[in-house]
Amino acid sequence: MIVDLHCHSTVSDGVLTPDQVAYRAHQNGVELWALTDHDEVGGLALAEETAHNVGMGFVPGVEISVTFLGKTVHIVGLGIDYTHPELIDALRYVRSGRWQRAQRISDALAGMGVSQALEGAVPYATNPELVSRTHFARFLVAAGYCSTIQEVFSKYLGDQAPAFVPMQWATLSEAIQWIQQAGGVAVIAHPGRYEFDTLQFDLLFDTFKDLGGAGIEVVTGSHAPHQYVQYAQIAKKYGFEASVGSDFHGPAEGRLDLGQLPALPSGVKPIWQRWLS
Ligand code: AMP
Ligand code: MN
Ligand code: MN
Ligand code: MN
Repeated sequence: MIVDLHCHSTVSDGVLTPDQVAYRAHQNGVELWALTDHDEVGGLALAEETAHNVGMGFVPGVEISVTFLGKTVHIVGLGIDYTHPELIDALRYVRSGRWQRAQRISDALAGMGVSQALEGAVPYATNPELVSRTHFARFLVAAGYCSTIQEVFSKYLGDQAPAFVPMQWATLSEAIQWIQQAGGVAVIAHPGRYEFDTLQFDLLFDTFKDLGGAGIEVVTGSHAPHQYVQYAQIAKKYGFEASVGSDFHGPAEGRLDLGQLPALPSGVKPIWQRWLS
């Protein structure tokens, strides 16, 4: 079964609208699909309607920005009720610091010789409440400062790069609670991307489990193949269900297109068994 439980639309930092993402997923053979925009559920009604019209299974999702041990961690919520008022309010609160942060990113970039970065990034941000580093990165590539988005993150915007502006996002406990209150299950997104040491990873997994977290992404566009095996072992060790997702943002970006994911390593429990009837 072709499953893709992590991707983005213009409602956050993707380049296709929710219905375009649905059509592309369906064309790529996806049979069960989740749209997981950053800190925003505004695309899910259109995504669900389109998935329904093409006969593709749909799981409503979201990817919540969290700060844990001073670093950003992403928690995907799957199977949420996207009309849940507390969830909608909470996500609005998570998004609220983004505008001020964008101005600070722009100032930091100005100090590195990139002028007018905010003015450059804003036209790429299709949701005014969700100006993200991805939008700055698209501008820096278009303006010729870098040749790829990846290069922008290594030279300017990545967590270790000079124009990185730290943020206080939601706490891990808040994100899991909001997801659970809305009837969903919490999943640790792309664990292989976090620059934690072993003790910090243990604390993340233990805390997540204690708070009722259910799943972990094992196969994702953010993992190298050896990490599929590594995080399958973590899933087994902690009793987490395994998730898969391309983290697709647009046709010209990222390593994996929608649905073009290798199979899960054997011996893990696929989280999507929850939504198969
Ligand atoms: P933000 O929520 O504004 O901090 O932006 C985070 C987004 O930037 C992620 O969801 C990715 O889409 C993108 N991103 C982060 N790190 C990288 C990277 N190293 N290479 C490419 N994209 C990245
Ligand atoms: Mn993103
Ligand atoms: Mn993410
Ligand atoms: Mn993502």
